[in-house]
Amino acid sequence: MAPRSHTQLRRELIDTCLAMNRLGINQGKAGNASVRVPEGLLITPSGLAYERMKPADIFTIDPEGRARGTGAPSSEWRFHFDIMKSREDANAVLHAHSPFCTALACLGMDIPAFHYMVAVAGGDSIRCAPYATFGTQALSDNALRALDGRRACLLANHGMICLAGGLDAALNLAVEVETLAQQYWRALQIGTPRILPPDEMQTVLEKFRTYGKR
Ligand code: 13P
Ligand code: ZN
Repeated sequence: MAPRSHTQLRRELIDTCLAMNRLGINQGKAGNASVRVPEGLLITPSGLAYERMKPADIFTIDPEGRARGTGAPSSEWRFHFDIMKSREDANAVLHAHSPFCTALACLGMDIPAFHYMVAVAGGDSIRCAPYATFGTQALSDNALRALDGRRACLLANHGMICLAGGLDAALNLAVEVETLAQQYWRALQIGTPRILPPDEMQTVLEKFRTYGKR
């Protein structure tokens, strides 16, 4: 397959954000998205409605963290940049204020192994990173720690982050994680969810290595 041009990737970035809102995992101008390119990363601009966003509004952040574009890059460019730098498995990063993840994050709750699908995020829990002000290096540092060995985390009093090998996979993961947050929230309404033991989650993680691969 021929490499996709930046214009195509910029379009895909905007389409992914529009899909986040359409799927109900984000609202309005909240959230942001980035994708890795040889020159660094492409990232959505700050505070611009996705419906109005054009490929030319997308910013480039170079490997030294310098932004190129008109206006301002996403206020969360630091965690996108730090994730891309430290995680080889991340070619796309999504951040959303998805309702159920955010509700749990407002209580500072991790999502434990209440369902085997928690392993979709890479481990036996989805951690909640401690609160830090949006757009700060402190938030990025907290997020990176919560993402250690994981492809998703919650951000206390804020939202969630997902990373994946591409934009489609990151969007799918965001939907899975929001679904888990909703299921966990529902289960908590009627009782105390039973948590799967670590050895069972290890078994599931092993099975996931080959699951769905032809
Ligand atoms: P930006 O519009 O600057 O990307 O901010 C949205 C957001 O979700 C901040 O956490
Ligand atoms: Zn946010």
